[in-house]
Amino acid sequence: MKTPNAACPCWSGLAYEKCCQPLHKGGEAPTPEVLMRSRYSAYKLGLVDYIMKTTHPDGPRFQADTAAWKHDIEAFSKHTHFAGLQILSASEDKVMFRATLFANSQDVSYTEISVFRQHNGHWKYFSGAHLDP
Ligand SMILES: [Zn+2]
Repeated sequence: MKTPNAACPCWSGLAYEKCCQPLHKGGEAPTPEVLMRSRYSAYKLGLVDYIMKTTHPDGPRFQADTAAWKHDIEAFSKHTHFAGLQILSASEDKVMFRATLFANSQDVSYTEISVFRQHNGHWKYFSGAHLDP
């Protein structure tokens, strides 16, 4: 676990305590872009509950079997090296980003357009589609 003064794992260049940590501690993401960043850093830090909490319950990534879902996220988090994040564009409810990831020394990076929707007044990750390289 990183100390609060360390660089934020979402690659913003800011200190973790001034970037994603307040959200991980229960703060609200004001925009989808901020939420997207905080989810990337949550994956890196293994904050499984945060990932689950910020997934829209009506979206395709939501799993009713929370134990199995938790296990999947933990496995992904543990076996992936989170080497970079670039926000390519962000609109009112969509974020396009490039995630640089390695798994077993293999480059598994991808570009994704994520769709966000509000649920009870809070932004949630709804769905995502990977783009061809
Ligand atoms: Zn951050």
